[in-house]
Amino acid sequence: MESNFNGKMTITDNLAKIKKELPPGVKLVAVSKTKPVEDILTAYNSGHLIFGENKVQEMVFKWEQLPKDIQWHMIGHLQRNKVKYLAEFVSLIHGVDSLKLLREIDKQAKKHDRIIKCLLQVHIAEEDTKFGFDSAELNDLIGSDELRQLPNVEVIGLMGMATFTKDRLQIRREFKTLKTLFDELNAKLPEISILSMGMSGDYEIAIEEGSNMVRIGSSIFGSRNQH
Ligand SMILES: *Cc1c(COP(=O)(O)O)cnc(C)c1O
Repeated sequence: MESNFNGKMTITDNLAKIKKELPPGVKLVAVSKTKPVEDILTAYNSGHLIFGENKVQEMVFKWEQLPKDIQWHMIGHLQRNKVKYLAEFVSLIHGVDSLKLLREIDKQAKKHDRIIKCLLQVHIAEEDTKFGFDSAELNDLIGSDELRQLPNVEVIGLMGMATFTKDRLQIRREFKTLKTLFDELNAKLPEISILSMGMSGDYEIAIEEGSNMVRIGSSIFGSRNQH
């Protein structure tokens, strides 16, 4: 009962405002982590279908409660032992950071007779805390036999997170690095076509640097207490 009329208006307005700003070809993932199903329904009722969550249990709960035409994107760090819970319905997994995880996704996707789309997470931040491949590992993996032996996963792009910093130049530099890597891969393999970068604090820079998928939470749903 928290989301009163004003709350609903805010979500709808925020969403409309951001969608108007986005250039054509840039997809919006509305990041609804920690937010109640009512808030997601408000966004859904205004016509938005793509939502991002970072915890498996929470995403499963929301998937069960909400309309089935919602496309659920897993944007958080995914543990191998939890893939089985989302394999039935997940629409895109953003943060894949190991071949072992890809193998598990392939195995679980097979059980549901699905092909699960994935983005490989690239480590671009200068800080040490973010998961992901470096460029050498990425070049080894993409187009490799190991990847080809996983018929139930489809790698369609890259995802990255910039350093959490006020230094806009550093953020821009990190996004540029990822875009360069993306362009190199995309030139060889056109199926690598999604570049997921940019959040509430830095999506304008990300778009200027060539992102075609932004993951925006607090600018739509308001700030979060927990992470
Ligand atoms: C939480 C989260 C976002 C959205 O963050 P906001 O700052 O609220 O827009 C985007 N990407 C990932 C991976 C996240 O965990």
